[in-house]
Amino acid sequence: MADMPIRKLPLLLVNQIAAGEVIERPASVVKELVENSLDAGAKRIEVAVEDGGRELIRVSDDGGGIPSDELSLALAPHATSKLQTPDQLAAITTMGFRGEALASIASVSRMRLTSRATIDGKSAESGAYLQASGDYVGEVTPDACAPGTVVEVRDLFFNTPARRKFMRAGPTEFGHITELLGRLAMVRPDVSFTLLHNGKKSLEVFATSSRRQRCIDVLGEELDEAMLEFEQEDISPDAVIEENNRTKRARVWGLAGLPAIARATGKFQYLYLNGRPIRDRTLTHAIKEAYRGLIPPDKQPVAVVFLEIDPRAVDVNVHPAKAEVRFGDPNRWHGLALAAMRQRLLAGDLTPSVGMPPLDTSRGSSMSIPPPQTSTPIPQTNAAAFVEYFRRMDPQQKNFVYEEVRREVVGNLSDQSVSLPNPSGTESELVAPVLRAQGVLQVHQSYLVTQDDQGLLIVDQHALHERVMFEELRRRVLAPGSTLESQRLLMPAVVSASVKRQALIEQLKPLLERIGIEAEPIGKDAVAVHAFPSFLFDRNVDPVEFCEELLDKAEDGQLDQPSVNTDEAVLHEVLDMMACKAAVKAGDAMRPEELAALLAKRDEIERSSNCPHGRPTTIRLTLKDLEKQFKRV
Ligand code: ADP
Ligand code: MG
Repeated sequence: MADMPIRKLPLLLVNQIAAGEVIERPASVVKELVENSLDAGAKRIEVAVEDGGRELIRVSDDGGGIPSDELSLALAPHATSKLQTPDQLAAITTMGFRGEALASIASVSRMRLTSRATIDGKSAESGAYLQASGDYVGEVTPDACAPGTVVEVRDLFFNTPARRKFMRAGPTEFGHITELLGRLAMVRPDVSFTLLHNGKKSLEVFATSSRRQRCIDVLGEELDEAMLEFEQEDISPDAVIEENNRTKRARVWGLAGLPAIARATGKFQYLYLNGRPIRDRTLTHAIKEAYRGLIPPDKQPVAVVFLEIDPRAVDVNVHPAKAEVRFGDPNRWHGLALAAMRQRLLAGDLTPSVGMPPLDTSRGSSMSIPPPQTSTPIPQTNAAAFVEYFRRMDPQQKNFVYEEVRREVVGNLSDQSVSLPNPSGTESELVAPVLRAQGVLQVHQSYLVTQDDQGLLIVDQHALHERVMFEELRRRVLAPGSTLESQRLLMPAVVSASVKRQALIEQLKPLLERIGIEAEPIGKDAVAVHAFPSFLFDRNVDPVEFCEELLDKAEDGQLDQPSVNTDEAVLHEVLDMMACKAAVKAGDAMRPEELAALLAKRDEIERSSNCPHGRPTTIRLTLKDLEKQFKRV
């Protein structure tokens, strides 16, 4: 290569190299074109694609359009109407600014750009079109088109075989387009979007003044009840944004999905910075933190997060497709998003209703979740969903079936009813005295059944007790300067331990002291436990077993302090372990007072809807669900 002289790249190559970064697949074309339409002030945008965009992508809008004499400039690289000076680059408010998209796309496809401009509210007498492909650019030709712009892109990657080969089948590419358009549609509820695939309407969302409604339109109506709205302003004095001579505060707004609808992937997290869809580790982490202990570690919340901050406080010019940004002060926005979400989650009733889509259901969002491809039928009735829910909830409870619970409930009711049902009495008269007398029913020594104002509650006794203990421990440990009460052992409990484990004990000492464990290496291969938390002692937890498990976890790296939120994560892990050990198990009989006390706690403590591992403690069969089941409606 050394003997090749330095030359300026021909234009086609410049554009294709740019396309290489920005135009990865048909969905990237849709992204750039729709962003242009939004920048042009469009109120209606239609995207029509053939064969997942492999054959054709057409984006039509009713925006401001391009004057005929600027058409060829629009296709030139580094030509834009959105940016003129460096200080504008420092405070970008449009979606586009690089002036590269149209030139890049034209260099790898056959493009036709048709536009009729509107200037000062008056539309030009006629429009024009221009064709371009590779390094060919045609003549600007007058055209009797409607005001607005239509960009047609055919045969994407026809001259870049490597990229062409990389494209997936039509349905897969269409999936990416659907997902992308959904993300963009959430940004602008004031704009109507239509998506057509092979001539068939696949999505239509109408303009609305409610951003919540737009999000639900995209996520799917069935998630409406499962999304909690949150909003918070940054109250620090310097968080003021000046915009068009008005000032506002930096803020976060969004929707947090109930833990019960968490998914296996993070695909259902929608992050936005000043109206731009982004990927961002800071915000993703904030979401994860907000749900800590509310969902299992292998699940990801469904969440929509809109962050609005001073455009000068963030660099949006760090990624060719503008999909990532760089915050000046990431911790600040992490904190704001976390606080807003956490507060909302703690304030909300997170108990999932049986009628709600269970964890990882394969049906769901109208836009983002592909239709089920499983061969097994998906339960349609609530009763089936209910059984399904339990089946998924705890592998050890696989034999648990709704019928059994029902039999148990009904059986117990008639056992305890003094007289036979009075035909003239209403059902509530029959049931109420039993529940009032007893308040709660223990089923199979594992589940508690009770009622609240919305319907029937079914509680997993172990999960709830675990959460109750966890919160109690946490409150005590976090109280300033306090450690957990501990009990000195008459004879130290001896745990055999390798040299490595002995070293771990030394390392964990400060943590262990906080929770009331006093332990130190003795000899070459053991650790002596001198004191143990009274709390665990009272619940018959064996010090040797407990410390061994703690060391297992430590050796496994589970107690290593991650870079962010050091103490809390580790403490959570250890307290969680203590709570789990101390809590009643499935199969433990409980006395009526114990049942009542446990349920009373449910209303007192935070996060009672989920155990510290994130599994639900409670599910609800609402009166509405019951009415449906009994065909009363
Ligand atoms: P950028 O969006 O970064 O400016 P593009 O290559 O995407 O660069 O577009 C170049 C220019 O073409 C834009 O700045 C805009 O003036 C014009 N343009 C592109 N698409 C449209 C559209 N749909 N409506 C009006 N003008 C458009
Ligand atoms: Mg653009």
